[in-house]
Amino acid sequence: MPPPVFRFAPSPNGYLHLGHAYSALLNADLARRAGGRLLLRVEDIDPTRCKPEFEAAIYQDLDWLGLVWEAPARRQSDHFADYRAALDRLDALGLIYPSFESRAEIARVVAAREARAPWPRDPDGAPLYPGTARRLPADERAALAASGAPYALRLDMAKALARAGALDWIEDGAGPGGESGRVTARPQAWGDVILGRKETPASYHLAVVVDDAAQGVTDVVRGQDLFWATGVHRLLQRLLDLPAPRYRHHALLRDAAGAKLSKSTQATGLRELRAGGMTPAEVRRRIGLG
Ligand code: GLU
Repeated sequence: MPPPVFRFAPSPNGYLHLGHAYSALLNADLARRAGGRLLLRVEDIDPTRCKPEFEAAIYQDLDWLGLVWEAPARRQSDHFADYRAALDRLDALGLIYPSFESRAEIARVVAAREARAPWPRDPDGAPLYPGTARRLPADERAALAASGAPYALRLDMAKALARAGALDWIEDGAGPGGESGRVTARPQAWGDVILGRKETPASYHLAVVVDDAAQGVTDVVRGQDLFWATGVHRLLQRLLDLPAPRYRHHALLRDAAGAKLSKSTQATGLRELRAGGMTPAEVRRRIGLG
């Protein structure tokens, strides 16, 4: 049997904090115990939020922690052609469509409907896309495309589900409600998710699935905030004929007040802790991996 392959996949849109240290070191510990490999992936598809100085800091902070990964790291921004190819494949199956509305327009439609009746929300609490552009007559869609207007590419969730059938995944960790073992995937909870944009032929969901397959990842270990997103990932894996890794979602570290750690809280930033004299061994103890 080939060795299992783990990965840590931070986004360079801020500095790493103790929560990232937990995820990275847990991946490393599990890989070591299983005689497996550890890969690093820099999830930098969003050019508006990702910055070179944050990427440089990721390597520095992980080095300092003593993390050993196989170089070079995979940078998503080097692989847009791969994501484009996956989008083309979904397009050939008739599973994606362009939606030309701005975020503000969508919010107005949702607010108007929500004023009359409850409107469904995704597991992160965001209102589901109302599907307006899915019903656009072909000539209107063509005219909008010809006008050069920006658009998002969305998955036609109902069609995708009909094609994919029932889906599940093996959860070695636990979901927010304690779900574990064989978990039923519920991608429909997210509605017609965005898989790409006119300027960027990728989204988090699409890139993560394409990359996990390209890197031969067998074990995805990440925070519980992504637990329900796994349903969308399983759906895309099925549609694109990609293998399903095992998943282990871990609880998120919280601050003293019980809030999720964020990239802007200095109190838990690895750079600040290092500057304050904390050692990597103390980081490990503090996050319960000592
Ligand atoms: N890039 C994501 C994050 O920083 C993690 C993605 C994943 O592990 O699937 O939250």
